[in-house]
Amino acid sequence: MSSCPCGSGRSFEDCCGPILAGEPAPTAEALMRSRYTAFVRHDLDHVERTHAPEIRDDFNRGEAERVAEESEWQRLDILRASEEGDSGVVEFQIHFRRDGNDMRHHERASFRREDGRWLYVSGEVNPKGEPRRVVKVGRNEPCPCGSGKKYKACCGK
Ligand SMILES: [Zn+2]
Ligand SMILES: [Zn+2]
Repeated sequence: MSSCPCGSGRSFEDCCGPILAGEPAPTAEALMRSRYTAFVRHDLDHVERTHAPEIRDDFNRGEAERVAEESEWQRLDILRASEEGDSGVVEFQIHFRRDGNDMRHHERASFRREDGRWLYVSGEVNPKGEPRRVVKVGRNEPCPCGSGKKYKACCGK
């Protein structure tokens, strides 16, 4: 029994495992946790299929796979999670290392439940004007967090 990468304190089999295998996530937070775990386990199918249809074209699968492999995933912190009916908001931070830099991805993400399944709809990165971190990433390079946005429009904001 291994503990789940998402940091819930439960085993992978009782936590993100079934969700990665295709079971609906019970809450928006559980979906967010499972999407992080999918990166840790290089299981990008789950990330891809839990994007809302209108943003699926924006998902750069190759880039996401590269980020998943090249990053050293340290931990996920859920800062806030709330739900109202079929919409949910989860604010989180992901700590990881990439190219020798300590990175922190802070995002307030919106989720929607469709046919009983939670989907990732959008995210605001650095929602409250987080202090800037100096890292050696070109401002116009793709963000190392794998969002598919330019660094300056994402974690480098
Ligand atoms: Zn988990
Ligand atoms: Zn980013």
